[in-house]
Amino acid sequence: MQGRVAVLREYGGEFELREYPVPEVEPGAILVKLTRAGVCGSDLHIWRGEMKDVYGAPPKDLTFGHEMCGRVERLGAGVTTDSNGQPLREGDRITFAYFFPCGRCPVCLQDELGSCPRKARANRVAGTPPYFNNAYGDYYYLRPNHYVYRLPDEISDDIATPVNCALSQVLYGLHRAGLRFGQTAVIQGAGGLGLNAVAVAKDMGADKVIAIDQIPGRLELARAFGADHALSLTELPRPEDRIQAVMDLTGGFGADVVADVVGYPQVIPEGLRMLRSGGCYLEIGNIAPGNMFSYDATALVRGNTRLVATSNYSPWAIPQALAFIRRNLQRLPFERIVSHTFPLERITDAFQQAEWLQREGDPLRISRAALAM
Ligand SMILES: [Zn+2]
Ligand SMILES: [Zn+2]
Repeated sequence: MQGRVAVLREYGGEFELREYPVPEVEPGAILVKLTRAGVCGSDLHIWRGEMKDVYGAPPKDLTFGHEMCGRVERLGAGVTTDSNGQPLREGDRITFAYFFPCGRCPVCLQDELGSCPRKARANRVAGTPPYFNNAYGDYYYLRPNHYVYRLPDEISDDIATPVNCALSQVLYGLHRAGLRFGQTAVIQGAGGLGLNAVAVAKDMGADKVIAIDQIPGRLELARAFGADHALSLTELPRPEDRIQAVMDLTGGFGADVVADVVGYPQVIPEGLRMLRSGGCYLEIGNIAPGNMFSYDATALVRGNTRLVATSNYSPWAIPQALAFIRRNLQRLPFERIVSHTFPLERITDAFQQAEWLQREGDPLRISRAALAM
C-alpha cells in the first residue's frame, strides 16, 4: 500500500506529490488516515522561506504541516484507548498533539510539557521513514507516547482541524497569561488564532474582549466570536489612535491582558502600551527567526509588566479545547474559521490563495485554508 506526501522543493514554489510505502505500525503507535490538514500561519512562514534558518536554504525535499485530524487506520499493539481512557478502535475519528514532550526532563517535571526542550518534532525531509511525519499527506504516523483524543460525532472534520494547533495554542497561552473572570483582553490580529483567542477569552469569563485587525470580514467575524469591540486599522490608522481607543474602553487604565497573534513584531510595542499597570503581554504570533522589537525596559519595570511567550502547549489543552467547542457549538460559527478547502492535489493553490487572502483580504470570508485528503 502506498500513500501520497506533498513535497516542497523551492520556497514560494509548487508542491509535488510523491508516493511512499505505508509503514508497519510498531507497538504503541497509531497509523492515522488523515482527513483534513490546515494551512496555519506558521506553514505560510515556512512556504515563503522565512524559516530557512531552521529548515535550510534551499529547502531539501521539505514536507511539513502540523494542523490536522483523521481516522484510526491501524492501532499498534497495546493501544486500546485514547488519552482520556475512552475505547479507541480502527475507524474512529481523532485529534492529537503533533509534538512529543519527553515527559521525564526537569522541565516536564515542572508540569510544563509544552516547554520541554527535548520534545521530539517531525522530521521534515521527505522520504525519511516512517515517511508520514507531517500533515500534508494521506497518512500520519503517530509515534508511541502520543496524546490522542477521540473526536465527538458533533464536531465535524472542518471544525476539528484547527484544534491541535490554533485553538489549543491560544487556550494554553491565555491560561499561562493568567486571564481571569471579569477582566479585559485585547487580541491583536483576528485570523485563525485571533478568532479562537477571542472566543476562549470570553469563555474564560473575560468581561470585555477587544479585537484589532485591518480586514473588515475578520472584524465582523471577531464580533460573531464574541468580541465586544472590534477596532479597525483602517479607521484607526495610527498606533496612538488604537492605544487611545483601548484606554477609552478601559476607563483610562488599559487592558489586563494583551495578546499578539499577528506574527509581525511591529505590533508588540503598540500592544505593550495598551496594558494596564501590572498587566500581562502574551506573545504567540512571532515564530520566524529574527523578529526583533525594541521597547523601553524602564517602562516595563515601572508598569510592573508581565511578559509571557508561548509556543506549543501542554497536551491537556486538547481535551479542554474539545470541551470548549462542544459547549459553544450552537453559539459560535466555528465552521467559518476554515473558509477554503482544497483537495490535497491542489495544495499549491491552497497556499497561493491563503497567501493572497492574508495580504489582500476578502471582505466576505476569512482566510484560513485547509486540505481534504
Ligand atoms: Zn500552527
Ligand atoms: Zn521533557
